[in-house]
Amino acid sequence: MQEQGTISIHTENIFPIIKKALYSERDIFLRELISNAVDAISKLKMVSYAGETNHAAEPEITVTIDKEKKTLAIADTGIGMTADEVKKYINQVAFSSAQEFATKYASSGTGDQQIIGNFGLGFYSSFMVASNVEIDTFSYKEGSEAVHWSCDGSTTFTIDDSDRNTVGTTITLTLQEDAEEYLEEAAIKRMIRNYCDFMPVPIKLNDEVINKQTALWDKSPKSVTKDEYLEFYRYLYPYQDDPLFWIHLNTDYPFVIKGILYFPKMKADIDPNRGQIKLFCNHVFVSDNCDDVIPKFLMPLRGAIDSTDIPLNVSRSFLQGDPKVRKIQEFIAKKVGDRLTSLYSESREEFLKCWQDISIFMKFGSMNSDKFYQQVKEILVYSTTSEDEAVKSESGNYTTLQAYLERNKEKHENQVFYTSDPIAQGTYVELHKNQGLEVLTFDAFIDSHFINFLEREFNDIKFARVDAEIDDRLVDKESNTEIVDPKTNKTKSDHLQDIFREALHKPKLVIRTEAIKSEDAASAPPAIILLPESARRMQEMMALMQQGTVSFPEDHVLLVNTAHPLMEKLIELDSSQILVGGKSESGDLANLICTHVYDLALMAQKSFDADSMKGFLQRSNQLLTKLTSKI
Ligand code: ADP
Repeated sequence: MQEQGTISIHTENIFPIIKKALYSERDIFLRELISNAVDAISKLKMVSYAGETNHAAEPEITVTIDKEKKTLAIADTGIGMTADEVKKYINQVAFSSAQEFATKYASSGTGDQQIIGNFGLGFYSSFMVASNVEIDTFSYKEGSEAVHWSCDGSTTFTIDDSDRNTVGTTITLTLQEDAEEYLEEAAIKRMIRNYCDFMPVPIKLNDEVINKQTALWDKSPKSVTKDEYLEFYRYLYPYQDDPLFWIHLNTDYPFVIKGILYFPKMKADIDPNRGQIKLFCNHVFVSDNCDDVIPKFLMPLRGAIDSTDIPLNVSRSFLQGDPKVRKIQEFIAKKVGDRLTSLYSESREEFLKCWQDISIFMKFGSMNSDKFYQQVKEILVYSTTSEDEAVKSESGNYTTLQAYLERNKEKHENQVFYTSDPIAQGTYVELHKNQGLEVLTFDAFIDSHFINFLEREFNDIKFARVDAEIDDRLVDKESNTEIVDPKTNKTKSDHLQDIFREALHKPKLVIRTEAIKSEDAASAPPAIILLPESARRMQEMMALMQQGTVSFPEDHVLLVNTAHPLMEKLIELDSSQILVGGKSESGDLANLICTHVYDLALMAQKSFDADSMKGFLQRSNQLLTKLTSKI
């Protein structure tokens, strides 16, 4: 028997289009052919379950390289095809799917839109690498004969007898000259591992089974041990730290989605904008990331998602607007929220251990999705200075915002004190602590946005950084700084303001005086810098918009602590200068002390650059020289 025919098509030139579309992803031809082979094997299994055949060959796919003939063959023990089926499925179905792909690609306009995984191309993708493709197939059906089909990529094909004598199909590709890399065993091995690792049929190359075959996500979550989850993670992401915890997705309704999502330890080198969750479609590897399928805030997660419900032969931008994909995103976010809330309630210690790593994306997620925020708002915690025994023992110095507000209702209703850097702002934190005021830490890069978000959510609470303003409770209103001194005719506070203003020569600097309460006046700071909250936030926002660094605002406030013993001395020094009249030694000393006090206050706020540091050191040396000159 020999038959020749013409494949009926409307556009003759679809191969150039397909080649252009997929040139950089030619590798997928192997995935497509092996997927077809896996399908054929599972179809045979189904027919035999149904009792329609008792043919039972070992399910197996064999890839053979013949370097001399320059061929690559993929053989399966699947269902096979009769001559009629070859005509129908290969000449018509396969070709029309290739044509559909080409039309879609050509009409997508730009031509460079990335089509997810390029599914839908199937058998004909082999012509991307082959100058000739042959099929030898033998159907399981009783009385059928083996068929040989051959096509050189043009629109004509031949069908004749084949000498294949076992049920199944062999696809033989004669490789084009520019595709001879596929004659290398290592290349084929790498491609099988990459695309076909979890396909449930052994794939052999030179008698060696290459793929892993089992996907952990297929197992029932109850039957998987902790070690198995960890081992699977290490398999997917070798040489990485173990993950913190994981979520096993396994649902059939309203869509099919399986997978395991791992929460990795957040390292500085993790790029939150580059997803690393691998996407599979019925065990076939599709893409290195699921960026369009998972909510953006879950990007730092790792693992694998396998779903036949994600449309793959569409462009990425289309995928984002797809209602089913949106539902899948919500489903995944909800599962993540569930896992976090259960970890919080079942193992608080474990939760807090992971908090540093998970907090960023929980905050990011809260700002991005109200649903997610509603789910997790009661488990968002913050490090606190609270000395409350209950807080310490129950949640290891972490508190929720609700509990903080409740605990401090009497002292400062709707007011939250926070620090964005507990070490640099240590002086201020200490001041608050000494007066029994509880301070929360918001030190993540995302926190300035998150604070704005919380203020909107809890619409009447206000956040104030510890250095924004000095709370009334920290000030001793009874101190007698407003009494006029008959010798100088000035109040103590006016006098100190004058001294500092003159010494510092900073027109934009606002100088204020208050008596700061403390147990030991000498150990309290002689002065502190205040950065009013709204002005500082505005500046941070501007810096963010211009992608610059936040510069230190010139119009900050220097708050001089009139209760500090140093201030009496400064007044004395300055008064003696007034008595002598004109510039004097003591006047110089007073100036140097003021500058030093200001320098120290600034240092509690920001780090000095090289120039400021040089100036500071010079001034300090001058001060020391002056102080010791009288000894
Ligand atoms: P798809 O797999 O998406 O249907 P393909 O172009 O890959 O499209 O294949 C077209 C059809 O050819 C398949 O649906 C199947 O019926 C048949 N076919 C392809 N490869 C094989 C095979 N190895 N064994 C049996 N049938 C096959």
